[in-house]
Amino acid sequence: CGVFGIWGHERAAELTYYGLHSMQHRGQEGAGIVVNDGMELKAHKGLGLVNDVFKHANFSDLTGNVAVGHVRYSTQGGKGVENVQPLLFRSQTGSMALAHNGNLMNEQKLRGELEDEGSILQTSSDTEVLAHLIRRNGMETNEESISSALNKVVGAYAYLILKEDKMFAALDPSGIRPLSIGKLGDAYVVASETCAFDQIGATFIREVLPGELVTISDKGIESTRFAMREQRRMCAMEYVYLSRPDSDLNEVNVHASRKRMGMELAKESPAEADMVIGVPDSSISAAIGFAEESGLPYEMGIIKNRYVGRTFIQPSQELREQGVKLKLAPVRGIVEGKRIVMIDDSIVRGTTSRRIVQMLKEAGAKEVHVRIASPSIQNPCYYGIDMSTRKELIAANNSVDEICEIIGAESVSYLSIDGLEKAIIKDKTLHQGICAACMTGNYPVKESGQTEISYTR
Ligand code: 5GP
Ligand code: SF4
Ligand code: MG
Repeated sequence: CGVFGIWGHERAAELTYYGLHSMQHRGQEGAGIVVNDGMELKAHKGLGLVNDVFKHANFSDLTGNVAVGHVRYSTQGGKGVENVQPLLFRSQTGSMALAHNGNLMNEQKLRGELEDEGSILQTSSDTEVLAHLIRRNGMETNEESISSALNKVVGAYAYLILKEDKMFAALDPSGIRPLSIGKLGDAYVVASETCAFDQIGATFIREVLPGELVTISDKGIESTRFAMREQRRMCAMEYVYLSRPDSDLNEVNVHASRKRMGMELAKESPAEADMVIGVPDSSISAAIGFAEESGLPYEMGIIKNRYVGRTFIQPSQELREQGVKLKLAPVRGIVEGKRIVMIDDSIVRGTTSRRIVQMLKEAGAKEVHVRIASPSIQNPCYYGIDMSTRKELIAANNSVDEICEIIGAESVSYLSIDGLEKAIIKDKTLHQGICAACMTGNYPVKESGQTEISYTR
């Protein structure tokens, strides 16, 4: 998912729309904006792409100089419109809007406790749980209520919370999900990715820190801490696949890190070939890096139909298979008779690689050497990326040789964990650690007694 918030700009809703649009790749199932005109909070939300949801929206109705927005893709919680965020709550103490990127590991337990105490929840989204926890605390200040609620939830989260007089941004103690602060004139902006700042002409100031609660109001910006700062564990898959190449995460540009992944991969696993090609769009940076390091020419061997959405985010396996075919096509004149290094950023279920190798062979490629610019994914993610069960992960159930056989390639190699860290971490003293749990099994955040979580879709 992607979150966006702005405080103190007369075109708040419109700028939120543009910010969300630049983060559309983070979620395509639903979008919403909640504005605050100083008197009340108002929501406009719907299922689908940002453009569709706001096609008939009248921005002159969404007045106010404060807004928060969200683009959604569901890992936990159903796909219904009731789960589209920001969620808006009204109570005697005022209104509150919540936008969340991440996943709570103890959601079921907290939900059970809330229900036992008489709360009935409307959505299947874990975001609603936090709203109840905040309201129940009934402490002196918003900061205290929110901090105490955040200390009850376990998992990965980047939250934007909007009240009538303040906006809050909070990041989990391990800083697994990205969240940055920027400025546009006198207005403050918060977004999952810095590409949203560039989109609206805002300047990056800094990242929200692990365990930090940032308060933004007409008085400016204040910072408190609800948890001890830990070594940051930014999700490696943000760099590998999810984020936009023009975004910077933890002071590291995403495209540059992908290029370095490709270069490390070329050093670790070179191949005898005529050219390097990347799977558009997310693997192009790594393919450029591989080509540069190996001295092989980079070619456009696959093109993408830009009118099809991201395949991974499709719900069922049939749709995913269909999706790959609709989305990608080989360039016969380039690949025919050639030995090819085909770079993909990652293999999850194996759908993409298998289809592409098959496509390239059908188009006359002589050999296809698959090089994956990240380590093999063998473990589920509990922190908000859609890789739910071990069963679905091809590398959890097959050796590299077996995967090579399944996808029909001449050879397959993955980047090592070492290579991945080299490509992402610039300076460990900057607390630039990563989470790579889906590759290593080393989970930075555990819910006690937790072994495997089954997601409800
Ligand atoms: P597969 O087809 O193997 O299931 O998925 C691999 C493809 O999906 C890759 O081309 C990659 O770009 C994309 N992908 C890999 N990991 C993720 C992920 O964690 N989330 C999303 N949304 N897409 C991914
Ligand atoms: Fe990202 Fe993998 Fe960690 Fe999940 S387990 S947060 S996908 S690195
Ligand atoms: Mg891809």
